[in-house]
Amino acid sequence: MLLIHVSCPLAHRRRVDCFHNRVPNFIVNLDLFSESNEGQAQSPSSLDLATQQATQLRKLLHRYAHAYYTLDAPEVPDAEYDRLFNQLQSIETQYPELLTADSPTQRVGGAILPEFATVRHQVPMLSIRTETDTQASGAAAFDTRIRKELSLTETDSEVEYVAELKFDGLAMSLRYEHGILVQAATRGDGEYGEDVTHNIRTIGQIPLQLAADVPSVLEVRGEVYMRRDDFDALNQRQLLKIAEGLKGEKTFVNPRNAAAGAVRQLDSNIAAQRPLSFFAYGLGEVLGWPLGVVPFQRHDDLLQTLKSWGFPVAAQTQCVKGATGLIDFHSHIAQQRDRLPYDIDGVVYKVNDLGLQEKLGFVTREPRWAVAHKYPAQEELTTVQAIDVQVGRTGKLTPVAKLAPVFVGGVTVTNATLHNEDEARRKDVRVGDTVIVRRAGDVIPEVVSVVLAQRQADALIFTMPRVCPVCGSPALRDEDEADYRCSGGLFCGAQRKQAFLHFAQRRAVEVDGLGEKLIDQLVDAGVVRTLPDLYKLSLSALLQLDRMAEKSAFNILSALEASKSTTLPRFIYGLGIRHVGEATAKEFARHFGNLDAFMAASMEELLEVSDVGPIVAQSVVTFFSQSHHQEIVAQLRACGVRWEEGLPAERPTKPLSGQTFVLTGTLPTLSRDEAKAMLEDAGAKVAGSVSQKTSYVVAGSEVGSKLEKALALGVPVLDEAGLLSLLNGDPHDGS
Ligand code: NAD
Repeated sequence: MLLIHVSCPLAHRRRVDCFHNRVPNFIVNLDLFSESNEGQAQSPSSLDLATQQATQLRKLLHRYAHAYYTLDAPEVPDAEYDRLFNQLQSIETQYPELLTADSPTQRVGGAILPEFATVRHQVPMLSIRTETDTQASGAAAFDTRIRKELSLTETDSEVEYVAELKFDGLAMSLRYEHGILVQAATRGDGEYGEDVTHNIRTIGQIPLQLAADVPSVLEVRGEVYMRRDDFDALNQRQLLKIAEGLKGEKTFVNPRNAAAGAVRQLDSNIAAQRPLSFFAYGLGEVLGWPLGVVPFQRHDDLLQTLKSWGFPVAAQTQCVKGATGLIDFHSHIAQQRDRLPYDIDGVVYKVNDLGLQEKLGFVTREPRWAVAHKYPAQEELTTVQAIDVQVGRTGKLTPVAKLAPVFVGGVTVTNATLHNEDEARRKDVRVGDTVIVRRAGDVIPEVVSVVLAQRQADALIFTMPRVCPVCGSPALRDEDEADYRCSGGLFCGAQRKQAFLHFAQRRAVEVDGLGEKLIDQLVDAGVVRTLPDLYKLSLSALLQLDRMAEKSAFNILSALEASKSTTLPRFIYGLGIRHVGEATAKEFARHFGNLDAFMAASMEELLEVSDVGPIVAQSVVTFFSQSHHQEIVAQLRACGVRWEEGLPAERPTKPLSGQTFVLTGTLPTLSRDEAKAMLEDAGAKVAGSVSQKTSYVVAGSEVGSKLEKALALGVPVLDEAGLLSLLNGDPHDGS
């Protein structure tokens, strides 16, 4: 029988959340906490069970805290940590004999890294009690507790609080002696922190020197954080480094970890490249006040003083009264949360009167006069049930993780895009994985990371299908592109509407009146499937469509008839071949003169066309290598679509026609633009990346991966002298 009673009003709700999230690591039998057990006697077996669970919870929380505080690489979302923490706290409240000195509920933060000098905090850096009831009742409960602690009755006036943002960064203690910054230390375990002065000096917002009228010893406490835009830019730079193959580089899961990682760098040059910001919110040790008096008695005046000394203090900070004031602040900030330039995970309420703060004092690891009131989690745990590949209107293949439904960021999330194969590989998301899902504001949900410790041994690495899951055409990925695309443009069901729209537009074959709405109707009703079906439309079929009057239907049929007489460039453009824009279509038409020659052209022949590089040429070859595309063209012609054909343009006679060059590094005398212009004048193409189709790589000094790739592929490499002699018509031996 399960007999433990925990007087936590949230116990039942937590159980629902956890099952909802299907967290596999959920180790505590929550029936223990069900309210139906209220008032029942405790049996010895329930104590054993509680002991066992407390031990398991402590072990798990220690592990998660180590990953979060010491390694700056959290394994689970905060919401999950908070849930487990609350469970342990509930057990320890129920069974005080189970409380151990090393319990995470009794300690602050994590271990300090041995690489840093240790700093002893003269005034401990504490934690703050977390209120996880994200509703108004969470704020009211704090006010009730404070009034009770202060023995206030209903007739006493409301308590005044300072309501602040709870910045999602890491706590920092800045020590100034005679106005000079002499030390910056992390919170560490609250008593001892790490000396990170060298890195903190790189933060522009932190004054290195203060005006003369400050206490002789002054410790300013606050939060180092990273703005969201700085975080995005940092991750972009990291992605570039990863793409360039730099070893040991990674992207960061969120701004907090990026900030914590930057602060705890041994090399301050690295820290300086990771833009950090700072907000001040309190004081540590202070000695030697000017004139021997503390110039404030209230927390809001303390904040004003910090501001006057040159420290950033968040503008949203407010002085409020009673539970109503706290509730209003909580909901007001909830509305602004997504628009703030930095992450917050809640708000903090502090009793304003410093005398009352002293009276209220502290419990083990937290002050009684403050509480952190959280917002609904923006990160949660769930499992990946499948990875589907969706095909967009433009043929782009997108892997999408199908998730066990999870309530996060205020909505139930069941899908999260993995963007493309590289991204899915980088995050290494696999079917069956437990993952952290994030949804903030209107931003689409994303998988932040995988909880590797919970991966099943047989989980398979995700690979993109090499054929389109909708039409079975080859799925191709251009060099230098992240996305795979279905190559069955005119045939693929997913791209059908886009294909019609493209074909019918004014710059292509131009079917007046055939716009998005009509195409939607025609395709959705199954009236047209491929382009030739348009020319088989009958008046009666059109009249069956929604709100289609006889006159409009007639106009459409006339427009279709008129569109049959077109030009070759328009027709080629209208086929929607990837990378073939209007100008390229004109070049093809001019070069080949007729459609059959264009359709039959080889890679080499296509590359002879002005401004056509290997990517475009390959795209054309792939397009016409598919029999269904040839069939559609034949049918369009059979339906009467026609144009004037001409003779092919004269073959180019330039010496380097059909050859592709790649330039890399700095040439001794020629600028890159000059070399490119000379090559193009000689009829060559200049491409940005090396492939098997590259004829030559021209390499200068400070070359990078392009030269490596050329050597690996056996592509001939020229220096500037070699290039000039080739341009002069001297034969090259290919070495
Ligand atoms: P806390 O919740 O106890 O709060 C204290 C900290 O809040 C301070 O040290 C300070 O850094 C910060 N803070 C931000 N704004 C503040 C303000 N205006 N005034 C005062 N302090 C402010 O923090 P904690 O003890 O570091 O850890 C608890 C938090 O860390 C929880 O939210 C928990 O979810 C998270 N955590 C997560 C994991 C994980 O695995 N994901 C592990 C451990 C802790």
